[in-house]
Amino acid sequence: MGLTKKILIALVAGVIVGVGLSYIPTNIFSAVNTYVLDPVGQIFINLIMMLVVPIVFVSIVLGTAGLGEPAKLGKIGIQTISFFLVTTAIALTIGIGLAFLLEPGQPGVFNTDTLEYEEQSAPPIMETIINIIPDNPISSMASGDMLQIIAFAIFIGIGLAFLGEKTDGIHRLFEQANELFMWLIQSIMKTAPYGAFALIASAIGEAGLSGIGPMAMYMITVILGLVLHAAITYSAAIWGIGKANPLKFFKAFFPAMSVGFSTSSSNATLPVSMKVAQENLGVKKEISSFVQPLGATINMDGTAIMQAVATVFIAQVYAETLGFADIIMIILTATLASIGTAGVPGVGLIMLAMVLNAVGLPVEGIGLIIGVDRILDMLRTSLNITGDAACAFIISERERRKELKAENA
Ligand code: ASP
Repeated sequence: MGLTKKILIALVAGVIVGVGLSYIPTNIFSAVNTYVLDPVGQIFINLIMMLVVPIVFVSIVLGTAGLGEPAKLGKIGIQTISFFLVTTAIALTIGIGLAFLLEPGQPGVFNTDTLEYEEQSAPPIMETIINIIPDNPISSMASGDMLQIIAFAIFIGIGLAFLGEKTDGIHRLFEQANELFMWLIQSIMKTAPYGAFALIASAIGEAGLSGIGPMAMYMITVILGLVLHAAITYSAAIWGIGKANPLKFFKAFFPAMSVGFSTSSSNATLPVSMKVAQENLGVKKEISSFVQPLGATINMDGTAIMQAVATVFIAQVYAETLGFADIIMIILTATLASIGTAGVPGVGLIMLAMVLNAVGLPVEGIGLIIGVDRILDMLRTSLNITGDAACAFIISERERRKELKAENA
């Protein structure tokens, strides 16, 4: 049986077993979780996580060196950032539109008197920008600070491109290291069905379905937003700009989406999503290695959709009216909030406080949605990494067409 089929079965089995587990006595569930599901899931996550920093570093160095001139990197950078910003703005519009249309937060249904949520502070934006250049690259790698690792790798890559033959040895070392890491990730992917099953069963077993009740409409609105964004925005871009069949794209990228779903972490999924994009979708290595790590860090359309729906939902619950200016404010701050969201589980919810503050809504409202966020996190992470891959794929296809044209000419 092929890997994709195995993963698909693991996903379905994970959901069914997870729902079943949520109904058994808590002490039995906790024993099964502690001694079976959690260790299997965590070992799988650690196996991929151990390769995140090496793969990102090595492949960005190679990618930058492979592009040759920094000007080309700049061009790809502009295309990438434009794609990220435009798709995030569309995602937010879809989220806000659906939340207005479906009104998941009917007032009077929810009790807001006892809600509590302790806000956590986000780092100031200027500090984040200055810190993109690391003062100590070793410590950036040790702490897994993705933007700093990306910056350092770009510098090394540009250096290699300039020095050419003089640094041939180091260049080859990076190429061989890349081969090695890709082989390792391919081997680790063989355990994905078991890891994904354990992670999903554990997450759903713990979250349970019983708390959904009045939150069902909120969840449906978010899920519909995620599906529409993939089916309309990404499909249109893949078809219109990438000149490719969107269905084939989603089918080929599915193994990575399933790992995003089970780990709820764009960062942890990165080695898998890069490998799948390069091998199943044929994305050029130098483009995939630049676009996808950057996307896993700053491009989160799924998170943006959740934040948009959640903001309108909380406004509806507290019977606050949102005017046109508020909606523009939501789009602006949620774009920043989704950029600032780290690719790890649950951070999208923490960053939501920033959006709520900007439009003067009570941050305690987050207390309402926190219970069902675990399951939505799985789904939005899948979309988050799909957006990065779609961007890489489209840019790569455009480059390929340009090269072909130049060759023909
Ligand atoms: N878990 C998401 C991700 O890693 C981020 C979030 O929305 O919490 O992409």
